Amino acid sequence: MITKNCKRCNNPFNTWSSKGAEYINYCPQCENIKKNTKRVKTSTSKFENDILSLENRMKSLEEKVENLNSNIEMMTKIQIDNVLSNFLNGKLEELFPKLEKQNKIQQDTFFVKIQSQIVTISNRMIELEKDIADWLGLDENERN
Ligand SMILES: [Zn+2]
Repeated sequence: MITKNCKRCNNPFNTWSSKGAEYINYCPQCENIKKNTKRVKTSTSKFENDILSLENRMKSLEEKVENLNSNIEMMTKIQIDNVLSNFLNGKLEELFPKLEKQNKIQQDTFFVKIQSQIVTISNRMIELEKDIADWLGLDENERN
């Protein structure tokens, strides 16, 4: 048994381990205080990190909502599907006179291809609008 003076409170204390005695510089009470202080510091910095990461997640979430809102506003304003179908119809009218010079099979193939593309685009738009509505948690009657 070795008696040492605590480096923190300067009180004498006994250490039972002769091998580790030279490394033990604090009495049991001060050792506990030291450990607790370290624990509080660790959990405080962990807490601060958690807050920071939550703040970052909130920020990116807010940005996503902002982007979605402006996308929805834009979609409502220009009625994307109307614009799209007008555009495609215009293109068809523009292209059809040219196609009339070619044979019937090519015309049909082209028409079927364009029709299926319109259906694909239109389905994607519906899915996209549904995804955005789901994401924003809109009720069925709030959707258009
Ligand atoms: Zn002490």
